[in-house]
Amino acid sequence: MNSDLSLIYITCHLRAADINQTPDPMNKACSYNKATSSWSPVEGPSVNCQCCNTGDCATVGSRRTAWGPYAGRRGVGKRDVVLLNEEFFSRPVESTFELIHPESDKEIKTIAVTLNTSVEAKVKLKSHRFERFSKWSSAVRATARLIHIVHHFANKDGANQECRKWHICEGPPTIEEVSQAERVIIQCVQNEVYSQEIHNLSKGLNLSKDSPLYQLNPIIDQNKLLRIGGRIARSTAISEEQNPLIIPGRHHITALIVRHYHEQAQHQGRHFTEGAVRSAGFWIIGMKRCISSILHKCVKCQRLRGKHLNQQMAELPTDRVFQ
Ligand SMILES: [Zn+2]
Ligand SMILES: [Zn+2]
Repeated sequence: MNSDLSLIYITCHLRAADINQTPDPMNKACSYNKATSSWSPVEGPSVNCQCCNTGDCATVGSRRTAWGPYAGRRGVGKRDVVLLNEEFFSRPVESTFELIHPESDKEIKTIAVTLNTSVEAKVKLKSHRFERFSKWSSAVRATARLIHIVHHFANKDGANQECRKWHICEGPPTIEEVSQAERVIIQCVQNEVYSQEIHNLSKGLNLSKDSPLYQLNPIIDQNKLLRIGGRIARSTAISEEQNPLIIPGRHHITALIVRHYHEQAQHQGRHFTEGAVRSAGFWIIGMKRCISSILHKCVKCQRLRGKHLNQQMAELPTDRVFQ
């Protein structure tokens, strides 16, 4: 009782006794009073609890059986009281019991354990897959083919039964598939480069002032694409030209788009290429520098705009210079 241990292990031995039995030092129920540091019996004389402090109730009990008033009533050799000393308190007692007839034992209940397993697909399309394309149109067409296969993979009731599983359709992809492919590619790039901005905007938070999009007041459209904002945020109609898609300046996809519209503009200068890119609904961060650097590397432009070479005149023949 004076120990500072926070854990107490108690071993109990249950025993049936006669209801008329009078309590004695071996058969009793004592409670400990912390204030007075003494044991007191629940019933019977208080002398029965005198041995609780010393812990020798067994010897007292056996002695009592020899000379006490109830000697011989419960037999001899009582070993069913285990003395609990401090060493016993300090170590846990682990006991194992073998089940006897567990099927017919009513005290044993069956516990059913159910495991719930959920699988989440974390493999996302990464933009490095588009690096093998050297043309914007081929990247869009290949992605549109994949989208077509995804939509028609389990085509069981469709009219065209050839459009099933892995196949290549004869005709070109539809306009919807092409526009969806463009959205998929741009979304993939935006999610990689502007993940923090998309997270903030979707949560309704303000953008960081260090963000390159801070001045652009970006918005997220219904396809979860980042677009240039403005003062018409309350308008339900989103115009491709007034709310162009935001594209990072240094990205392989950006180079493909600029080259594509530069060719569509018949290799005209930076202003025409920039106009073609913007009218297509793209806003490139650092557009001027990006387009200039790409046009500077354009082989066709270098040939068309290259300086005329001045041919060096050969030496005059001897008869021309002979005097
Ligand atoms: Zn098909
Ligand atoms: Zn060019």
